[in-house]
Amino acid sequence: PLGYQPAPKNVLLTVDRLRKKFATGDAPAVERASFDLGEGEMLALLGPSGCGKTTTLRMIGGFEVPDSGHVSLRGQDITDAAPEARGIGFVFQDYALFPHLTVLDNVKFGLRKMTRAQATDRAAQMLRMVGLDGLAGRRPHELSGGQQQRVALARTLAMAPPLVLMDEPFSNLDAAMRVDTRQEVRKLLKQTGAAGIIVTHDQEEAMAVADRIAVMEAGRIVQIGTPDEIYRYPVSAFVASFIGRSNLLTGNANGMEVATEFGNLPLSRAANGAVTLSVRPEQIMLEADAAGPASVVGREFRGHDQLYWVQEGERCMQVISGAGATIEVGQRVRLRICDCVVPLA
Ligand code: ATP
Repeated sequence: PLGYQPAPKNVLLTVDRLRKKFATGDAPAVERASFDLGEGEMLALLGPSGCGKTTTLRMIGGFEVPDSGHVSLRGQDITDAAPEARGIGFVFQDYALFPHLTVLDNVKFGLRKMTRAQATDRAAQMLRMVGLDGLAGRRPHELSGGQQQRVALARTLAMAPPLVLMDEPFSNLDAAMRVDTRQEVRKLLKQTGAAGIIVTHDQEEAMAVADRIAVMEAGRIVQIGTPDEIYRYPVSAFVASFIGRSNLLTGNANGMEVATEFGNLPLSRAANGAVTLSVRPEQIMLEADAAGPASVVGREFRGHDQLYWVQEGERCMQVISGAGATIEVGQRVRLRICDCVVPLA
């Protein structure tokens, strides 16, 4: 039961029903993982710890042998090919730079098929592209984490792979550096036309870098789509709560409308009978009202907006509203849902 999955125009990689069960595990680490990746497309494998992201990536890279299923690159079955025979680039979490080699020599490392002069030219060009040409003579320990990450990327892109696999590539960077570096990486991949698959458990990171996101839960891809689609139309309570914040309601649907304790609300798509609904915190309006049925029990000022926790009877709702007028903890309020709500599977 996947979400909306537009087929990419020029398919680069096909991942077809990959399965992997480790001898030590009760349940398979990965089950029926399938998707197509377009040329130059950036896909994020997103999910909580242990959901099978890394195992999926490792099967694509050839570091793990699937029990069943297939991987093909440009129509050629590479399921059983050795990693180095696949022509796929990798960027590892720890960058795996050679400590005793200079930055330039690190980038030249994969270019042994070229003449030395060609390799030097190519490496210098890549270092210019990642903005590190001034540091070509340094060794990895003389660079910041973000710079090391860019060297690792330059080394991979120098070989002009059609696809780059990245496992949590920004996890060693501090928060500010991570935001800059991930945009940089996205830009560089787009510039060189390489496709990318990035493993992350950070939904914000996935939304920021990826053209499409595949959300994984317990070994399965449960939804795949653009960040926008996944945010707006999550298929399940798991996806709704993992990507952004979500309030779950129950209701009784009748076509494009649903009866809830907040009155009759429009639905994003038709449904009938008992449904669970996802309402984003920014789809709820908060009005101060001394006679209101709810009260503010928590508030977080977030600069551009405020996040409120509002208790109404047994239920606690999250509400995001503008940074302007503040409603204090303890005040009585009324909640109004001001948008269509999403029925979940
Ligand atoms: P994380 O974000 O924590 O890295 P993940 O989503 O990448 O998690 P995987 O590393 O793919 O998850 O692991 C999926 C499941 O397979 C987990 O239950 C894990 O314990 C198990 N697993 C992974 N590698 C092995 C292995 N080599 N041997 C046995 N079990 C493994």
